[in-house]
This record gives sequence, C-alpha cells and structure tokens, in this order.
Amino acid sequence: MRFLLSPLFVVVAACGAAVASVAPSTTSIAPPATALETIHLSVSLYVVVSDTGPSSVRTPDEVVQIGARMTDIWSQAGIALDITVVGEIEVPSDVIASVASRDGRAFLIAANQGRFEIPDPGALIGFYVPDAGGANGFTSLGLRTFFVSDVSTVHHERVGSHEIGHILGLHHTLDDPDRLMFSGTNGMTLTSDEIAVARYVAQGLLDGVR
Ligand SMILES: [Zn+2]
Repeated sequence: MRFLLSPLFVVVAACGAAVASVAPSTTSIAPPATALETIHLSVSLYVVVSDTGPSSVRTPDEVVQIGARMTDIWSQAGIALDITVVGEIEVPSDVIASVASRDGRAFLIAANQGRFEIPDPGALIGFYVPDAGGANGFTSLGLRTFFVSDVSTVHHERVGSHEIGHILGLHHTLDDPDRLMFSGTNGMTLTSDEIAVARYVAQGLLDGVR
C-alpha cells in the first residue's frame, strides 16, 4: 500500500458545514460542448466502520448510487470516474477520530503502518466516515484521498465530486453558487478553464508525474 505523502499535505480544504442529511439530486449534467477524449480515472470508495467506536451508517449499495451520480457530474469534463465501491473497511476508532479532527494524514499513516487495510486502491480514494470534523467533506493538499461525512448540507454526490475537484487542482470559487467548486451549495457545473485544469492534473496522475 503506497500513498503519496507530500510535505504540503497538512493544508486541509474543508468544504461546508455538516448539519443535516440532504436527499440525492436528480439534476442531469450536460455533456461537454466539444468532444473531449475521455480520461478514465479509477476511484475506490470505502465505508469506514469500527467495532469499538462511531461507524459510518452508509451501506455499500448507497455508495454505489452516490458514485454513479459522481460519474455523471464529472462526465462534463470528459473525465470518466471508474468507480469501485470496495465495501466496508474496519478502522481503529482512534484513527476514525483523527478524521473527525480533519487529519487525513494521520489516517493514511495508520494505514501505511498496517493498522488497517485499504484493499484495491484506485487512482483516487474516498472514505465515507461518520464525522469529517463538522465539514461535509475534506481533502488534504497533495493527497489523492478524500473524506465524506455521513451528514451533509448538500447532496452527497456533490460532496465527493467537489473534493475530487480539489484533488484535480481546483480551488474554491466565490463567483457562482451553481458551480461545483463553490463551497457549501449543490452547484455542479465546471467552467472551461476548470475542465482544462482538472484534465491536465488527471492526466498527470495517470502518467505518474504528480
Ligand atoms: Zn472545497
């Protein structure tokens, strides 16, 4: 199990406050105006559980449905998320607690130390957790992993999709709540500039240069 642990990973992008569960969206996403060569990006998703502490209440079937809608959202960039829902992984409760402190680094170090297994990791890795430190989700700069809380102020597929945007080099926008990278809304659109950046970074991930 290898992770890229960048010295910059301590910078955390936390996205929106988590207060309530929101029903999934039925919004359809328009395909890109011009045909883009599809970039396939594998994404592995996990439901984080513990025998001795808080566990995610999600089911793998629910995450399958969330993942399908994430794929729809990213199709506008010509990026095909090839999502595998690996299922539940058992994680020590103190490590789950570190996620509740928005410490993605501690979570991955514990995995690297063999305290729990992350089977079949994709190019991007998402964990569904009981608590993401009060945020809907977060990712840590320089890592390919993201965390999504059980409770969210926005559609659940929007949380993971937004975090993938951060991993693919996109920052928050303050301009338009309809955009995916506006924090704390159900916006799902990407600008042409954002699509260009995300595709560049995604290709770099696949080429192993980032
Ligand atoms: Zn964000």
